[in-house]
Amino acid sequence: MKPIEAASAAQRSNATSGVYGDRLRFWFPVVLFVLVVGAYCWRRGDDWRWYELVWAVASLVQAAIRWPHVQANRVNRVRLQRVDRREQWLMFLVFLGLLCLPMLALATPWFDALNYRLPHWAPWVGTAMMVASLIYFHRAHADLGRHWSPSLEVHEEHRLVTQGVYARVRHPMYASIWIFALAQPLLVHNWLAGAFGVLAFGLLYALRVPREEALMLDVFGDDYRAYMQRTGRLWPRRPR
Ligand code: SAH
Repeated sequence: MKPIEAASAAQRSNATSGVYGDRLRFWFPVVLFVLVVGAYCWRRGDDWRWYELVWAVASLVQAAIRWPHVQANRVNRVRLQRVDRREQWLMFLVFLGLLCLPMLALATPWFDALNYRLPHWAPWVGTAMMVASLIYFHRAHADLGRHWSPSLEVHEEHRLVTQGVYARVRHPMYASIWIFALAQPLLVHNWLAGAFGVLAFGLLYALRVPREEALMLDVFGDDYRAYMQRTGRLWPRRPR
């Protein structure tokens, strides 16, 4: 393993509080969920759609899967962090597209003019995709363990994970979020709330992955190079 450039004091103090900050508590998403579902039921009355609630439950389950890792990440001592303004903006766009806009679309009538209709099988496909996404998301978090972080960082005890779902694919967690983002427009039938998440995550994925791989190469050198040779980004690499 190559020596790692030390994080500056500013990076360290920023990093130890984590990208999510120290004040985030699990009851925030729970309260948000209760408020959104409450507002949704009140606004829709008898005209509620099961698949929109599937989206809300899936996003709460996603937060619950991630929560223990957010807490564990707080005690990691960061050695290197490459979270710049662009990265922060990208995370904000994803937060908007995969959480805020769909929640507003459910809780308020503000975007109703942008609703669309889909055939009756579409929400079933979306539900199956959500289940697959959450199982994969859980597996990726379990296998990455303490090495998870919400953005581009490496900590003191970091080691390269190449087992479990990481054995054949380098970005299983991003693959699971892709499935979530693509399932969202099948469950929330609104151009803004459904489609914006796909665009936002697509942008984050396209801009972050080359930088994440460069970070891994800087830190793990030939080990990561060899790992890249035998794995694919989102799909297992086809044997030559
Ligand atoms: N891109 C991976 C991990 C996302 S979490 C995925 O989609 O599954 C982001 C952090 O995970 C990065 O900052 C990096 O420090 C860490 N990371 C990514 N791949 C890793 C690996 N194979 N082993 C250890 N840490 C890894």
